[in-house]
Amino acid sequence: MIIVLKPKITKRQEAAVLKEIKKLGYRPHIIRGVERVVIGAIGDERTQHTLETLMTWPQVENVMRVQKRYKLVSREAHPRHSTVRAGDVVIGGPEVVVMAGPCSVESEKQLMKTALAVREAGAHILRGGAFKPRTSPYEFQGLGEKGLKLLAKARAETGMPVITELLAEAHVDLVAEYADILQIGTRNAQNFQLLVAAAKTGRPVLLKRGMAMRIEEWLLAGEYILANENPNLLFCERGIRTFENYTRNTLDLSAIPILKQESHSPVVIDPSQGTGRASLVSALCKGAVAMGADALLIEVHPNPAEAWSDGGQQLTLDGFATLMQELKPFAAAAGRS
Ligand code: PEP
Ligand code: MN
Repeated sequence: MIIVLKPKITKRQEAAVLKEIKKLGYRPHIIRGVERVVIGAIGDERTQHTLETLMTWPQVENVMRVQKRYKLVSREAHPRHSTVRAGDVVIGGPEVVVMAGPCSVESEKQLMKTALAVREAGAHILRGGAFKPRTSPYEFQGLGEKGLKLLAKARAETGMPVITELLAEAHVDLVAEYADILQIGTRNAQNFQLLVAAAKTGRPVLLKRGMAMRIEEWLLAGEYILANENPNLLFCERGIRTFENYTRNTLDLSAIPILKQESHSPVVIDPSQGTGRASLVSALCKGAVAMGADALLIEVHPNPAEAWSDGGQQLTLDGFATLMQELKPFAAAAGRS
């Protein structure tokens, strides 16, 4: 930490700060300038008592961190890319992984038809919400356990691992029993007790970015997974709230290179929630793959016009198949298959 003292303070005030720094387990290094004194406090800021409380002292002008607040998710801790396995599928390896399926599981017919079609088109993982976080309590809330059972049936029939949202701590055991990957939604991205409970299942966790979350906060939320002995973390950008309302959210593709610099965990892009418009999904998938995304999470429905949730953003089965073909040169350009 760097502690900047105010100009014209007494020797006693300076000594009191030095004493406090030592008391908290840091080694002070004093730099005397013309007007003021700057103290470098040497020690591990991530594990030691914080010195930020010095901000309340009248003789202190500023306290600044030098180290990052996250540890296990950082590239420094783990210089090589991490990979996450779900069934036979490896995310973060040479192949760009595609997770596709309906926003919500609605019926056996709807799910099976979608699952078979997306597999045929080349998808690797089946998505589908059974517990849905809806803005209005009057909207379809998901089929719950019945939806999970249908996902398990689709997995048995297609061989594809499944990803589904874990909405509440009360559902942890139930959802972990059926899902290969637990999805933590944007609305729960800083529900820290849910993150800990999800981590403790040992299942891979796909952590969506909170819609108003800074990258640092998102990395720290991811740290909760790794700090609870679960290395299987995926970060998923799904768009953030900005002033723009042409799209449902603003898909922040800059998160891809930023996360690649800061972290070793694979990066997933969800252009469906990211735009809210099916007509934009293809372009953003291509951009994301070209920029180094490890996986895509795409909503696909046999009849989007009649979907029970998020109809406007779901691709048709044909639209998805076309996209899968069109993605190939973008994956190749990024050195992926
Ligand atoms: C979803 O994937 O259907 C979903 C609800 O996602 P998000 O949490 O990003 O809104
Ligand atoms: Mn959705």
